[in-house]
Amino acid sequence: MLKKGHIPERTCVACRIKAPKWTLVRFVARDREILLDEKGIMPGRGAYLCKNCLPKKDQPKILKKLKKALRISEK
Ligand SMILES: [Zn+2]
Repeated sequence: MLKKGHIPERTCVACRIKAPKWTLVRFVARDREILLDEKGIMPGRGAYLCKNCLPKKDQPKILKKLKKALRISEK
C-alpha cells in the first residue's frame, strides 16, 4: 500500500523541532563556510534551521550547532 501524502521531515539543528522540509531553511558547508541554500539544491551535507531559529543563526550557540551538523571544525 502506498503511503499517501508522505511528508519528508527534517530536524532544525538548533531547537530539534521536526518540520516538513520546505518549511525549513537549508544550509550547506563549502570550504568551511556556511552557505544559505535558498533553493535547497546545493550539493553536499545539509543542515536545517526552522523559521524561529533562522534570525538567531549568527548567535555563537546556534552557529556552533550548525557547524557541528555540517562537520565544520572550529579550528
Ligand atoms: Zn529551530
